[in-house]
Amino acid sequence: MLLYLYGYIGLRPNNETLTMAKEYNISHTSGLCVNCRKHLQENDQFMAVLVEDGQDFQRQDWCLPCWQSADIGGIANVFGHWQTRVPRRQAEKKTFIDDEMLINFFQRLQGSTAPARVNLRFVLTLVLMRKKLLVYERAVKDAEGNETWTMRLKSDGELHEVIDPRLDEEKIAELSGQLSEILQGHL
Ligand SMILES: [Zn+2]
Repeated sequence: MLLYLYGYIGLRPNNETLTMAKEYNISHTSGLCVNCRKHLQENDQFMAVLVEDGQDFQRQDWCLPCWQSADIGGIANVFGHWQTRVPRRQAEKKTFIDDEMLINFFQRLQGSTAPARVNLRFVLTLVLMRKKLLVYERAVKDAEGNETWTMRLKSDGELHEVIDPRLDEEKIAELSGQLSEILQGHL
């Protein structure tokens, strides 16, 4: 099991998984408010909203005035949101989403068996392991051969179960790419 796991994490250096497991740097610095279509400028604060869209998660960007006057309940399938800032073009190592928010998403995906959520939680698990925020404890296999991993959250020592969706490398790379687009820029 561990070899298999390290196979995921130690993918080739040109693999998307490694790219996304780095800090979430934004290279693109201007985007559009999904509501008023205003261009977000460098250093502008805005609200990033994670929306569940059937098979996928997508990110919407809202300028603060629009967000403040929006009826959040009226936006379909909001999974989470966080306030952030468009980084300056020159700024290196700007973290777009903080670790706390990643852990928050990881925790809130607990217990769901919907494939999009299972997959997202799995990819988040790889990211959090890479960041050494989540530690592998053990895996249990059921009669059908499905594995569930027990992971320990470093910050509070709590144990969490993660369903292994048995994705191949290609699928992991694809999901990682999607996740990194959601969480970082390409604004
Ligand atoms: Zn707006």
